[in-house]
Amino acid sequence: MPGIEVETGSPEETEALAGRLATRLAPGDVVLVSGELGAGKTTFVRGACRALGVTARVTSPTFTIGHRYAGSPDVSHIDLYRFRGLSAAEWGDLEPYFEAAIVFVEWPEAGAETLPPERAHVRLEHLSPDRRAVRVDAAERALLQALTGADPGLRHGD
Ligand code: ADP
Ligand code: MG
Repeated sequence: MPGIEVETGSPEETEALAGRLATRLAPGDVVLVSGELGAGKTTFVRGACRALGVTARVTSPTFTIGHRYAGSPDVSHIDLYRFRGLSAAEWGDLEPYFEAAIVFVEWPEAGAETLPPERAHVRLEHLSPDRRAVRVDAAERALLQALTGADPGLRHGD
């Protein structure tokens, strides 16, 4: 699958990158967001939410499986950290988050066999306290090109 890798030097740069992706998405689209604790997954989702007009505070859905934020369109933020797989009942609980919303999934591994196919997969990695490597894989090259075209502050590799 085609992919791009950029480095961000601040949370704001990660949010801006997420915003460029988010504005090209449509309701029903699913974006997987991977990376260890503190890598910037929630920061990325926050940037996407802001770009989609969400004004609510965006935090990790630690004590619930997900949040749904009112935006244009709505944005769902799901966290599967505590799951190993998804039973039919658990998927039933999740399904409303996917209706008429763009969906970001942190710790998506447990959903590998259950979630709808993703439009993009974002992988964040620590490089230093303020730098992150952000890899975005997506089947559509046009979506990836939109991410790297604009910001000269972002370097892009392969
Ligand atoms: P996760 O959801 O992956 O556990 P968070 O987004 O909650 O991670 O936390 C990432 C932390 O790293 C935040 O405190 C954020 O301010 C900080 N940070 C520093 N540099 C960056 C960067 N370049 N991109 C994203 N977050 C960064
Ligand atoms: Mg998080």
